[in-house]
Amino acid sequence: MSSILFIGLGNMGSGMAVNLVKAGHDVHAFDLSADAVAKLADEGATPVPSLKDFKGAVDVVITMLPAGPHVASVYTSPDGLPSSIEKGTLFIDCSTIDVQTARAVGTGAKERGFPFVDAPVSGGVAAAQGGTLTFMVGGEASDFEKAKPYLDSMGKNVFHAGPLGNGQVAKICNNMLLGISMIGTCEAFHLAEKLGLDAQTFFDISSTASGQCWSMTSYCPAPGPVPNAPSNRDYQPGFAAAMMLKDLRLAQDAAKTAKAPTPLGAHAEQLYALMESAGADGFDFSGVMKLLDGSLPK
Ligand code: NAD
Repeated sequence: MSSILFIGLGNMGSGMAVNLVKAGHDVHAFDLSADAVAKLADEGATPVPSLKDFKGAVDVVITMLPAGPHVASVYTSPDGLPSSIEKGTLFIDCSTIDVQTARAVGTGAKERGFPFVDAPVSGGVAAAQGGTLTFMVGGEASDFEKAKPYLDSMGKNVFHAGPLGNGQVAKICNNMLLGISMIGTCEAFHLAEKLGLDAQTFFDISSTASGQCWSMTSYCPAPGPVPNAPSNRDYQPGFAAAMMLKDLRLAQDAAKTAKAPTPLGAHAEQLYALMESAGADGFDFSGVMKLLDGSLPK
């Protein structure tokens, strides 16, 4: 079993770190929030009150942080990782961040003698707790092989997507497609209703016809057809519109850098930006239905 320093114990990281404890690893847990650290200690991790004062060597560092600047500050700033972390320690960043930062941080780490993979996840809080996440991993094949056993303890699907940064590429392209398909699904259900076709009947037809997609069959944005979908609990997340907007913005930034036209991705970003400016980005991302039918709180 290995010794792991896990940094970032929020909605996702807490469940992931607990699964590493359950797999028998010696997990040292750090977050800027003392409460988050205390909760992990209750689950069997060793609390790390301050990174600066951490004196141990570990086999692996895993980060699950909000965005690129947080990840860069941990891996590249002088106040980031403790000086006791020895060369050769494997770095795994599971955060969803911009491709450029992932590549820059990963390349810098490799140059300093640390194997690095970017390994963002698909699946929400329930999958993080249940150990059923999907990991999309960027990095050298040999580094992927080193990371895989740890990712296997936290997920059920682990894919090597190619060189450094390609995990993030897979993640933002997937989520751009998800955002677009969710908006299309909302539009179709809303129009059907307006034209006198009820949601269940339209679902029964379209879910077996050429319009079917995951956003419809597993996460239907109209209440009724998929009982555990957020649409049946007034669009409480699930996957918040704010998180979708973050991923769509990352996709648009990357598309500009790559000079790749993504007209529907740009529209999708704008639609979720409208949710944000309406103060409705705490609703699930399928809450676009509320924007279309005018039922957002005033
Ligand atoms: P979160 O805000 O709940 O947790 C982030 C944690 O990082 C917080 O506890 C915060 O205190 C801590 N933190 C911030 N800066 C730190 C630092 N310098 N050192 C130590 N700790 C620090 O976020 P989350 O929902 O757990 O998401 C984490 C990442 O996973 C994000 O990149 C997100 O896009 C991605 N993600 C989230 C979901 C989801 O459903 N929540 C799904 C897939 C991917």
